[in-house]
Amino acid sequence: MTSWKKIPEDSDFSIHNIPFGIFSTPRRTARIGVAIGEEIIDLAALNAIHLLEDFELDPGIFYQPTLNRFIGLGKSVTSKIRNYIQELLMDGSSPLKDHPALFVKQSNATMHLPVEIKDYTDFYSSMEHAINVGKMFRDPENALLPNWKHLPVAYHGRSSSIMISGAKFNRPKGQILGPHQLPVLAATKKLDFELELGFIIGQESNHGQTISTSEAEQYIFGFVLVNDWSARDIQKWEYVPLGPFLGKNFATSISPWIVTSEALETFKIKGPVQDPPVLEYLDISANANFNIDLEVVIRSMSGEIQTITKTNSRHLYWNVRQQLAHHTINGCKINIGDLMATGTISGQEEGSFGSMLELTHDGEKPIRLSGGTTRSFLEDYDSIIMKGSAIDKDKKVGFGEVEGQVLPAL
Ligand code: CA
Repeated sequence: MTSWKKIPEDSDFSIHNIPFGIFSTPRRTARIGVAIGEEIIDLAALNAIHLLEDFELDPGIFYQPTLNRFIGLGKSVTSKIRNYIQELLMDGSSPLKDHPALFVKQSNATMHLPVEIKDYTDFYSSMEHAINVGKMFRDPENALLPNWKHLPVAYHGRSSSIMISGAKFNRPKGQILGPHQLPVLAATKKLDFELELGFIIGQESNHGQTISTSEAEQYIFGFVLVNDWSARDIQKWEYVPLGPFLGKNFATSISPWIVTSEALETFKIKGPVQDPPVLEYLDISANANFNIDLEVVIRSMSGEIQTITKTNSRHLYWNVRQQLAHHTINGCKINIGDLMATGTISGQEEGSFGSMLELTHDGEKPIRLSGGTTRSFLEDYDSIIMKGSAIDKDKKVGFGEVEGQVLPAL
């Protein structure tokens, strides 16, 4: 499949992708767009020239500041719209060629949070990450707690913490264990990132309803990159016995384009063997992991730019279908726009870990940056940029980036 549109060869937003997002420009209010190459197709404008009229939609649906109403049309509609846009971009005659004003340069657009996120859940589904953290926070001999291989552990985050790529935040303050095992109130000295994927719920469930692993896919609209910023010293003091609280709910950054499940269909892959066997409601034989390359880049105030980790989401022990099945096994209701994140994704080797905590062994082995400075954890004005893409021969489907910057404590 090739396009008449000029798309850079290594673009994340190839004709195979067609991700949805919300953008605005000085002349265009917030509305729905589709990324293609270095541009955005304005769907409100596309509808205004009647190219989407076969779908018989309320025109207002494209002028929304979030995708929630659009997603609410259901996959049977949104998937057809995506296919139709793909067809308009394929080689051959296309009415789009006569309407250059439908295209907006991404560099001229401001991206917004793509959905109104009602609830946010963060899982803990990478075994490598759970073992690394368990060793440092608890007991090296018993890094995994007894429940870990039987259920996808998670905590409820706060949707108010979620910010769009490019947003900055101040280093948080909190209770930290100080001298003589007594707490002090201070700015975190162990500010960290967590490399994660997130999925956006595309269909609501009812109170009391469970979603099986085989039904789960129809409830997932698509995926984003997630950086679950974490304050390790606050987290370590507060997390027992109820889990993460203020060490994690100050900032969570997501990428602006939602890559649909349909675009990732051909990148599905078998996950790790689960031993011991899981309970029947979590059992799944289908390929439910995704072969997505992930990367984290740090940029310092002095301009040092360096890749500090590379990994792949195929390593996740628990897949998204099991996560959703477990989340709803008690009848918990889910809503359109809910964000579920996978938890930090770490590989097995040094250099493939998804957090500074693991990369630097809790600060004991600092990372050396190209300019000669070192990092145990993040410093003020550091930016973290995460990238993700799935590649198969000549086909690339990418997420673009999620970036965030640390400002000094207030
Ligand atoms: Ca996390």
